[in-house]
Amino acid sequence: MRDIGHFIGGKNVAGTSGRSADVLMPMDGTVQGKVALASKEEMRAAVENAKAAQPGWAATNPQRRARVLMKFLDLVQQEYDSLAELLAREHGKTVPDAKGDIQRGLEVVEFCIGAPHLLKGEFTDGAGPGIDVYSMRQPLGVVAGITPFNFPAMIPLWKIAPAISAGNAFILKPSERDPGVPMRIAELFIEAGLPEGILNVVNGDKEAVDAILDDPDIKAVGFVGSTPIAEYIYSRGCAAGKRVQCFGGAKNHMIIMPDADMEQTVDALIGAGYGSAGERCMAISVAVPVGQQTADRLVEALIPRVESLKVGPSTDPSADFGPLVTQQALDRVKGYVDLGVEEGAQLVVDGRDFKMQGYENGYYMGGCLFDNVTPDMRIYKEEIFGPVLSVVRADTYEDALKLPTEHEYGNGVAIFTRDGDAARDFASRVQVGMVGVNVPIPVPIAYYTFGGWKGSSFGDLNQHGPDAFRFYTKTKTITSRWPSGVKEGAEFVIPTMN
Ligand code: NAD
Repeated sequence: MRDIGHFIGGKNVAGTSGRSADVLMPMDGTVQGKVALASKEEMRAAVENAKAAQPGWAATNPQRRARVLMKFLDLVQQEYDSLAELLAREHGKTVPDAKGDIQRGLEVVEFCIGAPHLLKGEFTDGAGPGIDVYSMRQPLGVVAGITPFNFPAMIPLWKIAPAISAGNAFILKPSERDPGVPMRIAELFIEAGLPEGILNVVNGDKEAVDAILDDPDIKAVGFVGSTPIAEYIYSRGCAAGKRVQCFGGAKNHMIIMPDADMEQTVDALIGAGYGSAGERCMAISVAVPVGQQTADRLVEALIPRVESLKVGPSTDPSADFGPLVTQQALDRVKGYVDLGVEEGAQLVVDGRDFKMQGYENGYYMGGCLFDNVTPDMRIYKEEIFGPVLSVVRADTYEDALKLPTEHEYGNGVAIFTRDGDAARDFASRVQVGMVGVNVPIPVPIAYYTFGGWKGSSFGDLNQHGPDAFRFYTKTKTITSRWPSGVKEGAEFVIPTMN
């Protein structure tokens, strides 16, 4: 039984609040440890530590800061397998999928090694007589990240790497459901040479989150999680005068045009709909075939594939997906399947009764497939976050385009077609932040930015890519004049470039 405390000031410290939560192993339902839930005072101690360490780190030249990231990459490589295993045991995803989770995080760390370049300001020589203008990007000070359970390596790294390479000190409040990997990441950063206090992990629940939102020394908060919590954090954080960006839930559609390669489309839907048990914010949860013939062909091809999905424990490398994260998540997802049946959708593959032999207490269900889902149904409107795919039949391309465009969420979307014109029109008109053309999970690569639209994102800037450096820095612009440009006498009129 592991006792997970916090990581503050470069050390593992025990929790003192007297409150803790069980860390479960979703594949068999056993309790594998306890994680401390921080009090306001513990959060304050972490912030004090971070605040004291930050000026020294900000004064370290950016190339030296980047070297810590390089060393970190090395250290992760050395324990990739054990880290992935730990991740899979706490989350429930399969080990190969857990490796992908880590890898997508490392790609952002690699990008942030370019911080010296990304932090460069601009310079205008001779903006006026003897006048030069230049800008610089400076760190904000102490900044925080609050992250979800579903990518316990990738999303913390998307926040930590740009924040610290820009010279900030960082407080991470990871999900209390799978805190093991974030804690190990912090230890590895210290081993890589990060000064103590620059990266702190404070475990906890709402109390810890509220302590972040109320702390005047925390200047920015990056959140990823469900939309109701994203809205709460965005409004409370902004009201407290912080810079806040919040990424929320999703309902990602895949439009299938009549000319799409059906084999490729079905492969893509199976992977993107059911991988990680559908617990991805970029999972495809709605398939929209255009035309009745396309729909019939698609459903006919999907049924045997969904029926033969291999569900297994996280440690089975041949499993397509593992258990859901908790019993509550399993009950919620099954509840949505019951609801879909009540609403009149046609459940053509029913995975609700799946039992994993030898792992009866794990949180498993099989893949479910609904046909004839309509936009007025709650199973269409709401995020299910499980291995459930809904087919919504559209008569025309315009009808199909309308669905993701008018949906409350706007995280990701894809179109499968061989028609370049249709793909181009779709990419330009659809009201969704990330678009795939024959790519089912269009998570942008590290040097572009990641972010949805509408109810999937609150705040102006995206995560990773150049936006991450904009979010975690403030710009200062300096206008300087040297004696050769100074005119005699006071000037009372606003200076212009005339
Ligand atoms: P969640 O909203 O339950 O939790 C996210 C974080 O908020 C956790 O750290 C949690 O401790 C904290 N939290 C939970 N309840 C809180 C409360 N009442 N007050 C304050 N803080 C609270 O989300 P989750 O279940 O961990 O993750 C799944 C959700 O995240 C899905 O909706 C998924 O779509 C979304 N997600 C979005 C993105 C994206 O980039 N848009 C990426 C990954 C996951």
